[in-house]
Amino acid sequence: MTAQLPGHPHIAYVDNALCVEGLPLADLARTHGTPLFVYSQQSMLDALAAYQRGFAGRKAQICYAMKANSSLGVLQVFAKAGCGFDIVSGGELERVLAAGGDAAKVIFSGVGKSRAEMKRALQVGIGCFNVESEAEIDVLNEVALGLGVRAPISIRVNPNVDAQTHPYISTGLKGNKFGIAHERTLQTYQRAAQLPGLKVVGIDCHIGSQITSEGPYLDAMDRVLDLVQAIEAAGVPIHHIDFGGGLGINYNGDTPPAADTLWAKLLAKLDARGYGERQFMIEPGRSLVGNAGVCVTEVLYLKPGEQKNFCIVDAAMNDLPRPAMYEAFHQIVPLSPRAGKGEVMDVVGPICESGDWLGRDRDLNVHSGDLLAVLSAGAYCMSMSSNYNTRGRAAEVLVSGGKAHVIRQRDTVADQLRNEQLV
Ligand SMILES: *Cc1c(COP(=O)(O)O)cnc(C)c1O
Repeated sequence: MTAQLPGHPHIAYVDNALCVEGLPLADLARTHGTPLFVYSQQSMLDALAAYQRGFAGRKAQICYAMKANSSLGVLQVFAKAGCGFDIVSGGELERVLAAGGDAAKVIFSGVGKSRAEMKRALQVGIGCFNVESEAEIDVLNEVALGLGVRAPISIRVNPNVDAQTHPYISTGLKGNKFGIAHERTLQTYQRAAQLPGLKVVGIDCHIGSQITSEGPYLDAMDRVLDLVQAIEAAGVPIHHIDFGGGLGINYNGDTPPAADTLWAKLLAKLDARGYGERQFMIEPGRSLVGNAGVCVTEVLYLKPGEQKNFCIVDAAMNDLPRPAMYEAFHQIVPLSPRAGKGEVMDVVGPICESGDWLGRDRDLNVHSGDLLAVLSAGAYCMSMSSNYNTRGRAAEVLVSGGKAHVIRQRDTVADQLRNEQLV
């Protein structure tokens, strides 16, 4: 008997055993150990296909925002599917190249690009810099002139709209560090257009992450199109419009619009305002990978208490940082559900911090030695993981076409000590 997990395509119970694309997670855990990240390639491609349907017949480039999950095997999936990449560091650029991505389809975002990062990006011929401040414009101009080239740029504008998401992942409000204020955009474009080391190619905005309604996108789009109109009226042509990423996923009954439905609405607005034939770019991250991944973890100990019961597992905040960072919710389910009533407990890791929890007040029927899956673990988990408490980062497996491929070996202690030396 098969029972699909709603909102988690290609993850299902088959005869009471949780599977990814039909492969039992318990078998993968036995072979590769825990904690273990397992990703469904088909789920990633399905998520991408929703955007591709949304843009059918339009000029659009999808640039996967790779900070969501920058493992080479994941990048390879998106590179092969024709995606570009949204990067935020020189290190991410090297990952794109190592995974076989096309530098010409790379856009470089971020408020703190160094000269060395700019130089390398210009040398490999990236598609566009999304410039985030007036100071950065001058530095990029200098670096490009030093190389005898012109740097293609968009200016990231801060449309001052509320994405109605967690404050740490909201980026489009006046108080945020991102982008150039709406009021200063026109004059900044006029100045950039006169600098000999720059070539203005586009405009960009990205208002936040885990956005679950279409309103903020529609508002931001209006604000950006008003600017395009003003900038072009001032004689600076805008070749592409980049609407960023940020579409949410279902973690806990969240109901974000589907990518194709959202883009049908957004494109209707673009058409109505006469911009439907433009070149578009988007930078989705979480919505392409978030629900394609799970983290399998073993129950080490049950620790009943007067006020709280604890379920201590072998995954921790170094593997799954989102609960500690944003008090985020991940569903946690047993790989083989037991019959009978459960108990309410907090699922916590072994790290010496009270912030090291994965789920609070969960109703679970588990014994020590049981395996659990932390769901929605494809985005902002492994890419944010650390070696805190000298814990090796987990292994990663990509399931594709009925086969499990190890795309990252578990860190050994030797891996962790490699760059250190005694005085
Ligand atoms: C993080 C980020 C994205 C992707 O955000 P998601 O919420 O993962 O879709 C896109 N663009 C920029 C500039 C970002 O910083």
